[in-house]
Amino acid sequence: MLKVTNLTKKYGKMLAVKNVSFFVETGEIAVLAGPNGAGKSTVIKSIVGLLRYQGSITVNDKINKSIEGKSYIGYIPEIPSLFPLLTVSEHITLMAHAFGIKDYETEAEELLKAFDLWDKKDKFGSELSKGMQQKVSICCAIITKPKILLVDEPMVGLDPKAIRTMKNLLLKLKEQGTSIVVSTHLLDSVQDLWDRIIIMKDGEFVYSNTKHEIGKEDKSLEDIFFEYTEE
Ligand code: ADP
Repeated sequence: MLKVTNLTKKYGKMLAVKNVSFFVETGEIAVLAGPNGAGKSTVIKSIVGLLRYQGSITVNDKINKSIEGKSYIGYIPEIPSLFPLLTVSEHITLMAHAFGIKDYETEAEELLKAFDLWDKKDKFGSELSKGMQQKVSICCAIITKPKILLVDEPMVGLDPKAIRTMKNLLLKLKEQGTSIVVSTHLLDSVQDLWDRIIIMKDGEFVYSNTKHEIGKEDKSLEDIFFEYTEE
């Protein structure tokens, strides 16, 4: 379970995130939505531990920046950043070793094959297209068996087969009990995945609810988004 409590982030004097609180249950896929500049990336980077902030963030009851907390978190950034001189296989091995994952080879092979990367496994990071780099970045996060997975704009730049593979992976992780936060503008792309929506605007928390609750009113993600973000 992911719990964000009174998160506030300033960049210099600019207040980017204001006292935001929300939670994501175990085995839930939450969509973090909001207009440009709402503070979504800032929230995600705070959870991942890349920023200084005020407030409290816990993952399965551990502080996100503790060693145990960090070991629970997987992150797929919007822009992949691979090591130019490591091969695809070496990226996966590095992540598995860093997170103490044993016997990862079979899963690594399955992941690379699912993303059509198996024949590219000995290519260097610098030799990959943008889409391929993104797929490697996804494999790197999944191989660590995260209990909390943060995904920033997951579908942008992926081909249709990779989008389907990505969606299936998210559903599999959810079944295994991972709490997943997906930040995206492409609400259609996650219409068949989400369990909870969290809406931010102008750095503030606006709304959160589960599909189960909202479903009674038969609304799409887009309907809910506009309802809570338009004046
Ligand atoms: P979103 O992901 O919802 O588009 P961001 O979290 O990227 O929003 O940005 C929230 C606000 O913080 C915006 O006003 C943005 O200009 C500002 N911001 C983001 N990153 C920085 C930074 N590194 N330095 C200064 N301001 C930033």
